[in-house]
Parts: sequence; C-alpha cells; structure tokens
Amino acid sequence: MCPAVRRRDRRPHARRRRRRAPSVILGVDVGGTTTAVGLVTREGKIIADASAPTRAGECDPLDTVEALIRQVTERARRPVRSIAAIGIGVPGPVDAERGIVGEPVTHVPDLAGRALAAELRRRVGIRVSVDNDVNALALGEATLGAGRGARSLVVLSLGTGVGAGIVLEGRLVRGAAGFGGELGHTPVNFDGPPCWCGLRGCLAFYASGRGIADIAQARVASAPSAALLKAAGGDPAEITASMVFGAAEMGDHLARSIVDEACQALGAMIGTIVNGLNPEVLILTGGVVESFMRLEAEILRASREYAFPKALAATRIEIVPGDKRAAVRGAAALALYESNARARPRRTQERRTR
Ligand SMILES: [Zn+2]
Repeated sequence: MCPAVRRRDRRPHARRRRRRAPSVILGVDVGGTTTAVGLVTREGKIIADASAPTRAGECDPLDTVEALIRQVTERARRPVRSIAAIGIGVPGPVDAERGIVGEPVTHVPDLAGRALAAELRRRVGIRVSVDNDVNALALGEATLGAGRGARSLVVLSLGTGVGAGIVLEGRLVRGAAGFGGELGHTPVNFDGPPCWCGLRGCLAFYASGRGIADIAQARVASAPSAALLKAAGGDPAEITASMVFGAAEMGDHLARSIVDEACQALGAMIGTIVNGLNPEVLILTGGVVESFMRLEAEILRASREYAFPKALAATRIEIVPGDKRAAVRGAAALALYESNARARPRRTQERRTR
C-alpha cells in the first residue's frame, strides 16, 4: 500500500469531507482497434479520458476496460465509487435489456454472447448499461452533442461498415429484436449485388470504407485505373477507400464513378430517413465521413432526388468528423438514459398510489 493511502486512512474525518456524491458518469467505447474510457459530467463535459488497444497483448477486452477505468479515476482523483453509472458501446448487436452482447461482433469477436453488463458490474461494483455503439452515439448527440435538445435524431456512422442509431420522440429505437436502426444494411438499390451481410443492394455495400474498397478492387480488373494501381503499389487487393477518394479528386474516371455512386447511395438513404421518419436532425459521422465532407453539395443534391422537399427542409443535416470523445460521451449518455428510464416507471407508480 502506498504511503499516501495510509496517510488518508489515518484521517477518516478529513476523508469523509472530501468524498463527493456519485455525480459523474463513465462512458466506454469498445472499438475494433481502440477502446476509450472517459469520466463525463451530466452536462457532457469530459473531465478525464484514456484509451488503449482493445486487445493489447491478446488480453480480454474487458481487462482493457477495467484497467482504463482505474486509470481515468486515478487521473481525475475520483474513487471508482464516485461514478454514478457506466455505459458501454460495442460494435455489434446487443440485448440491451439483459446487457448481453449478440452476434456477430465482427471486429471484437471475444465479446460475442457475453453478459457484459453483469461481468463488468462484478468487477467494479457499479451499475452498467450496454448497447450498440451507434445507438449510444445517437443518444449522446441528441442529449449532449450536435443535436442537443432534439427530440428526434438519426445518426449514420460511416466507417469500415455503416452503423446507425435512431432517437424518436426522445426514445431510442431498438426494435422488436434489437435490429432497430440497422440502416447500414437496408437497400438503396433493390436490384443491387449481394452484400457481405447476405442481403443485397445495401447502403454499406456502396458507401462504407469496406464497400468502396471492395468495389474498386473488383472493378479495377476490367477498368484499369493507373492512379488507383499506383496508389496501391500495383496490387489491386491493397486499394483502400481513402485511395479511391484521393484518385477521384485527381480526376481518375473509375474512382470518380465509385465516389459518385457512394454519394447517390447516401442521397437515397437520406431520402428514406427524411421521408420515413422526418427527424429534426440527421448526423453523418464516422471514420470515412471526412472524405465525404468535401462532397456535401453532391450528397445533398442527390438527397433532393429522393426526399420530399418540405420534409427535407425540416430536417437539419450535419456532417461531423468521427471522434472517439463523441463515442465516449455517447456511452455516458446511454447510462443516463437507462437511469432515467428506470426512474420513469417508479415515478409513474408513485403518482398512481397517491
Ligand atoms: Zn448488407
């Protein structure tokens, strides 16, 4: 035990004076490569954060989460007991009610099928809520982020794949079997080719990092692109989405046609969201979105082909860069949302008994 701890133990009254009520929330974003943890105030301010490789040294991702929790609480000089609740976002389907991760969790397969909420609660002794990472992000954007105050909001997260989260009338849409918000694998081309998910014509096939790279790798065989092949060192299998965006900007015909399709696919999805849900705010974000930011005019032009003008005019569309801190804030917003949901029926019951 370190001397500083012993000294504090000899002064119990002083320690009691310093103890704070559990007021901060802890947000955890488990990503395919990086896990980020942050202590977040109820107003959305991150007061301490840390990140590490999700599976450093092939360890269990939950070991990484626990180590990062200890790290941020020490950094903020707040004991673990000062945390009111923990929210975790994971990149896969989740049974949020039971806190169990579903399948597949493509980028963190170790988490599939695990009772993550119960496991982490056993380790740290604090209530834990778990949900899909983009569901958490949507809650974060609606309550603490770019869509703060919006009662209805949709987030489309364009990364390796496409995730989405829907908040309607202040409630997260999870659906009957947890597929609510799975907009990445809804069709933008009913006659489209098979997607890696087993369906066809999906948005993710056309507008995700993986989809754009896959299309380019397949097409370059029949439509040689000197710019793409040069960027990939002559190996078509090495072509990435970022190379496609770069070559398109340089005027490469093949790359340009793939980027045009991606913008058109996004326009069709925006039309679907705006006509079907008409949210106050629609946020496009994620790792690939920085490439799309330069194409905002093109995406909005395409969306006008599919959306009712009055519906589109009522929806604010924002394209914001992907950010780990937003993901951490989202996970914290998830914990707050679940705390409020638990409190709601109790208050209703109290009113009924009065
Ligand atoms: Zn799909």
